[in-house]
Amino acid sequence: MRRQLLKAVKRVVIKIGSGVLTGGNSALDMAVIGRICIDIAALREQGLQVVLVSSGAIAAGRSELGLTEKPRTIPHKQAAAAIGQTRLMRAYEEAMQPHGLKVAQVLLTSEDLASRQRFLNARATLDALLGFGIIPIINENDTVVVDEIKFGDNDNLSALVTNVAEAGLLLILTDIDGLFSADPRQDPAAKLIPLVKVVTRDIERMAGGSGSTVGTGGMATKVAAARKAGRNGVATIMVPGKQNGIIAAAMRGDEVGTLFLPSSQGLNRRKHWIAYTLKPAGRILVDDGARDVLLKKGKSLLPSGVLRVEGRFDRGGCVRVCGPDGKEFARGLSDYSAGEIGRLAGHRSGEIEEILGYRYGDVIVHRDNLVML
Ligand code: GLU
Repeated sequence: MRRQLLKAVKRVVIKIGSGVLTGGNSALDMAVIGRICIDIAALREQGLQVVLVSSGAIAAGRSELGLTEKPRTIPHKQAAAAIGQTRLMRAYEEAMQPHGLKVAQVLLTSEDLASRQRFLNARATLDALLGFGIIPIINENDTVVVDEIKFGDNDNLSALVTNVAEAGLLLILTDIDGLFSADPRQDPAAKLIPLVKVVTRDIERMAGGSGSTVGTGGMATKVAAARKAGRNGVATIMVPGKQNGIIAAAMRGDEVGTLFLPSSQGLNRRKHWIAYTLKPAGRILVDDGARDVLLKKGKSLLPSGVLRVEGRFDRGGCVRVCGPDGKEFARGLSDYSAGEIGRLAGHRSGEIEEILGYRYGDVIVHRDNLVML
């Protein structure tokens, strides 16, 4: 099955975690980086396009500063990232050079990708770089982000990048062998799971809590990334990144690590962007009837089904659509502002003009802008 799936892949996003790139003292491990670059050069020879999402800036900066622990405050993390990012790029540059490959640095923030225009600009830049035969190396622009506007972790970023880069596969290089039935560091009976057909709640629970000491992500963020990539129609393979030749083995279709199949209900790229890249600015609570119609019939949300609205957003804003219990089941772009929806809640579409004095249309969230989660 793996071979079949890999045959169709022309462009791959490879996510490399800090734990893979660094040794015990958090310094960059040039031997590992060298091996990774050998594998990447081989993929290029086979005609594959490669986009890297690489962590390791904070770790490399920390080692440069001689800090024995992970920096704690945000400015210290940002400073470490600024110092480490240049070291990281230099390491890749040096390791790629013997293979005749060149690299480019792309730093992104989630706010960048939340603007459709910037998102498309990033896509065009990546396309141009790949067209020149360059390997783009993406990291979060740590200098300007704080928690609320962060991608959260590079696992999440890599899943979003499969959309930006229109890639066919996400390969996650991490510091354990794949997804296990329990945390292998605590439970010796834990078994490696080679194939995940659907990321169910059980799978998410299995992944909960196993964090790393170097990067920010853990197994849970990797499973969440696989789910997001899957909804973009992209499979994820998670493998032990320090192992010699592991990228080549994974891309050959060997049974290494864990393969997550893409979801059968893939989203188009724009809807994927709405669901996963945009940050919602508020929520609209709807009644049971409206929830049923949205979930089962794929209709638009009308004002009559709206119970109430929370948050502040303008027309075009991204909103969570929640049932009467407050549980989010869909996400979309609103045709009306929060203030307008407050006045329209519970009314028929035919009354919109009378209530507001104008109307943009009959619906609050159009089905073309609505994604079930
Ligand atoms: N951007 C951070 C770095 O390069 C890593 C974030 C992460 O590990 O998820 O150090």
